[in-house]
Amino acid sequence: MDGPMLVRRGAAGVLAAAVFGGLSTLAPVDERVRLTAARSETPAPEPKAPRPEPKPPPPDCTRVKCLALTFDDGPAESTGELLDILASRNVKATFFLIGENAAKYPGLVRREHEAGHEVADHSYTHADLGRASKKKIISELTRTQEAIRRASGVTPDLLRPPYGSTSERLTRIARRMGMAQILWTVDPLDWRHRDTEDIERRVLESVKPGHIVLLHDIHSTTVRAVPEIIDRLAAKGYVFVTVSELFGGKLAPGEEYTQSNSGEGQGLP
Ligand SMILES: [Zn+2]
Repeated sequence: MDGPMLVRRGAAGVLAAAVFGGLSTLAPVDERVRLTAARSETPAPEPKAPRPEPKPPPPDCTRVKCLALTFDDGPAESTGELLDILASRNVKATFFLIGENAAKYPGLVRREHEAGHEVADHSYTHADLGRASKKKIISELTRTQEAIRRASGVTPDLLRPPYGSTSERLTRIARRMGMAQILWTVDPLDWRHRDTEDIERRVLESVKPGHIVLLHDIHSTTVRAVPEIIDRLAAKGYVFVTVSELFGGKLAPGEEYTQSNSGEGQGLP
């Protein structure tokens, strides 16, 4: 709409404005002039809706001592307590989820994702994918991807085959589905030794920069070991990142990974 049209007055002016300006309503021209003037003097206020905090850039794992804590087989009742522990220390982790548990506890999957953790695929029924048929593998993976997507809105691009059991067939399918296979470096056998101090000691004795630590958030003995593990390692300068961050986002579908070799302390620039 332009100026000359708005200074017309009376019924003819309204009609002219309606015809030439394509107005949707026949408001009196005087009123339109006033509204237009008011709008141009006071700009519309900023929308009040809260904006999400901009996500800080991930740590540069070629320069700092990065470590990826990973939690398998959940979510379960004990996962909520773990999420509180991680949030209180501002630590990010990766969760390899069992599809049927993700379907049972979608709220926990959503919480994991919204807190900035990485959610990933650990098969639907904790199946031995390395020995499974093509049909079984595809069913286990696609059902899990779907359960996680429904709960969190994201489709994982990381897979941890249960028992670390893989095969050429699984590798081919994972590649086609766009998923890297993530194994681990440090295994404190927390599922066998249900002893919090024992788990702490085994992790603290073994970790080095670039490592991936395998834990299970379905055991409360493990969840209770997490504060000490984080606090002791943070005091040594470790930074806790998701698996994708540990590799700087450079993970190839189908490939297997047990640790990152590009981190600080690995003898590389
Ligand atoms: Zn598992």
